[in-house]
Amino acid sequence: MTWIDPHNGSDRARHGIATAVVVGDAFYLVDCGMGVAHQLRMAQLGQSGDFHGYEGLRDIFLTHLHSDHTMDYFNIVLSGWYHGLPGPEPVGVYGPGDRGALPAITGPSDVAAVNPDNPTPGTVDMTTYLTQAFATDINDRLRDSGKPSLDHLIRTHDIDIPAQVGARANDNQFPDMDPFVIMEDDRVKVSATLVDHGAVYPAFAFRFDTDDGSITFSGDTAPSPNLVRLAQETDILVHEVIDADWVRALYGEPPYSPEEEGFIEHLLHSHTTIEQVGPIAEQAGAKSLVLSHLAPGNNPRERWLAASAGFSGDLIVGEDLMQVGIGARTS
Ligand SMILES: [Zn+2]
Ligand SMILES: [Zn+2]
Repeated sequence: MTWIDPHNGSDRARHGIATAVVVGDAFYLVDCGMGVAHQLRMAQLGQSGDFHGYEGLRDIFLTHLHSDHTMDYFNIVLSGWYHGLPGPEPVGVYGPGDRGALPAITGPSDVAAVNPDNPTPGTVDMTTYLTQAFATDINDRLRDSGKPSLDHLIRTHDIDIPAQVGARANDNQFPDMDPFVIMEDDRVKVSATLVDHGAVYPAFAFRFDTDDGSITFSGDTAPSPNLVRLAQETDILVHEVIDADWVRALYGEPPYSPEEEGFIEHLLHSHTTIEQVGPIAEQAGAKSLVLSHLAPGNNPRERWLAASAGFSGDLIVGEDLMQVGIGARTS
């Protein structure tokens, strides 16, 4: 049996999933995939002149706690001590809360839970554990290097899902719902909704509304009516996409065994295919569709351009460090 990571394409030029929303001299980060800490320094977002790259970072938003979306989160925190953090205020970190229950076991029946006293920690607890794991280093830097405490660098928040939504970990992960506001400051209003990422709970999509326009992030999801509602008339829809032909090719030529069919369906039912993503953007009335979190990362560009079928707006195939503007150009 082969375990396949749907995002582990072999294009080494692409880093993991992360997107920044830049508003003036500040920016907000959605997800922290592998390599984003480095790429942030390359991107030099929001500020002018010579700086480290993290100075303008206001808040981090995690769509879900799959490691391909979180691997560089604590890298940013720890390296931030030396690369422009803390700013005047701690960086807000908003992400899923405690899952509440372990997922069902679909493979071997004798799976021991890791950390059984708290096997499904949310963003706040995850950060506490990470801090504890790095205690030797952190204490050294606090005591010997005079660094400010991590409380000055970050402030973590588990996203509270409104109780009336009735969402539950294993049998009602993404009920039909209205988006809800999770953060608002002088530059952005950020709304969230629950989306369908298979057994993952909670899995969020986010929408940023600014004076210049709006950007909506699908997170990882199969086609989701909640996402279409969140993204209504958005200027830019940044959507994940997977190539179903690639998934099938991983298992060779058909016919597939029932077990292979099961794995193929499992992958495809947690994600959105090239054929599905255009009509979703059309239903949402998005002006532009940016394909992101491409699986596989090394598909020829022409293959992704097939996503324009069923979409009347602009299609953009995402690239590392690509910048897409909305509103009036200021520089
Ligand atoms: Zn995921
Ligand atoms: Zn992912």
